[in-house]
Amino acid sequence: MKVILAQPRGFCAGVVRAIDIVEGALEKYGAPVYVRHEIVHNGQVVAELKARGARFVESLAEVPRGAPTVFSAHGVSHAVERQARRRNLTVFDATCPLVAKVHAHAARYVEQGRTLILIGHAGHPEVEGTLGRVEGPVHLVQSEADVAALVLAEDTPVAYVTQTTLSVDDTKAIIEALEKRFSNVVGPETKDICYATQNRQAAVRALSRLVDVVLVVGAKNSSNSNRLREIGAQAGVPSYLVADKDELDLDLLRGANTIGLTAGASAPEVLVEGIIEALRGLGPVDVALLPGVQESVEFRLPFEFLASSA
Ligand code: SF4
Repeated sequence: MKVILAQPRGFCAGVVRAIDIVEGALEKYGAPVYVRHEIVHNGQVVAELKARGARFVESLAEVPRGAPTVFSAHGVSHAVERQARRRNLTVFDATCPLVAKVHAHAARYVEQGRTLILIGHAGHPEVEGTLGRVEGPVHLVQSEADVAALVLAEDTPVAYVTQTTLSVDDTKAIIEALEKRFSNVVGPETKDICYATQNRQAAVRALSRLVDVVLVVGAKNSSNSNRLREIGAQAGVPSYLVADKDELDLDLLRGANTIGLTAGASAPEVLVEGIIEALRGLGPVDVALLPGVQESVEFRLPFEFLASSA
């Protein structure tokens, strides 16, 4: 059997930074350090940090007053920030700088008096965070049908921003629908879909042309991992999202000669290695790497964090 690895795959700079922040806070304060929401959407990452003393909560009401607390890479609303101040929490903000950029775009458009349209998935924490930072009318759309259903006059000055981890192709179609529907519309095109998402999606598109099956290592609640699986499927290749080797159903792969393997931005490489090990259970495995973008993006840790660890 041949396994072709996508390049790039796995951890992005925002995920590395978020994990570094939790680890840094644990070093500085000792356990427990509270983390609002899964720091990144990956069970293995969460379990390892838990073992070191991180406590994951969904609400800051669960955090004792004054305790060290990390906001996840997905970002938070103004209401969460206010609640943190009321509880006097020592906050380390692991919001990915690229999510923060979307927040800045949204704020600028609203200041210009535009009605904001957020293209994203309802209920995703990044979307909740962005919605909760907009001081004005904002509409969430997930599809072209949602655009058609917007109750807004055709000449309403609108602006859109996007969740960072969407499908580039689906988002283009939604933007086109907005441009058809409204006479005065501005937005950053698909540029708010982050570099890591775009690179991983392009790599899966290339991979899909060469393989019989695509395996995406990633969590069920990871937006960018789900989009990778969809891209494989849209290319006509059976594509599966697997959390780790224990979740891999080897029966689905019998008869496949070439397996394409990638990982979402929050999935550690050790899980990819585990999948390759599991595939060896079916016979000899020849592993190749698909040429692709080599990423060198790194994000600085927050200033207060650098200062406190100096
Ligand atoms: S997927 Fe993109 S936006 Fe999300 S943490 Fe990674 S770099 Fe940041």
